[in-house]
Amino acid sequence: MFKKSNNPDIAVLEKSYRGRTFSVSHLKVLKIENARFCVWCHEGKLNHGNQRWCSEECVSSGLAWANPQSEHGLHILLVKQNFKCLHCNFDYLPYVEKALSYLNRNHPTVDKAKIRNQISALLMKVMKRNIPRDKAPEVDHIIPISKGGQAIGLDNVGILCYSCHKMKTKVDNSGPRKKK
Ligand SMILES: [Zn+2]
Ligand SMILES: [Zn+2]
Repeated sequence: MFKKSNNPDIAVLEKSYRGRTFSVSHLKVLKIENARFCVWCHEGKLNHGNQRWCSEECVSSGLAWANPQSEHGLHILLVKQNFKCLHCNFDYLPYVEKALSYLNRNHPTVDKAKIRNQISALLMKVMKRNIPRDKAPEVDHIIPISKGGQAIGLDNVGILCYSCHKMKTKVDNSGPRKKK
């Protein structure tokens, strides 16, 4: 599902980058002599001049990492936490299943066998339409960025429903902030 990156820049960014999103166009292709390798895994060989990613899996992992708030991030995080809000256990799975059957009816050519990569973004988009507003899935920084928590990537984020996120944000904003 989520493929870890072998690009050393990723580990550096996880420590130092303070923004919430990162543009993947800044990631560099690995060049060894005349060969070029995937910006994300640094393993998959690239075949033509402007290719940057070796696979769908690398693209969705990279996009999720760079923007956990995106549909790619949402999907990977929901799978990781068994489709439940980390605080109240609100279950998103029925909504995912509903979205999937909608896609089956309306986009029959998409390969639903794999609920990942190319359809994950579409699936999440459809899913979000049916969720009550106070249960909308939101990406929370487990250790707040203001208190020194990792800002980018998927290690310090989880999905909370809107209500739980609102409550947690109140708590997060109280107490001492990390000195700059
Ligand atoms: Zn790759
Ligand atoms: Zn909740």
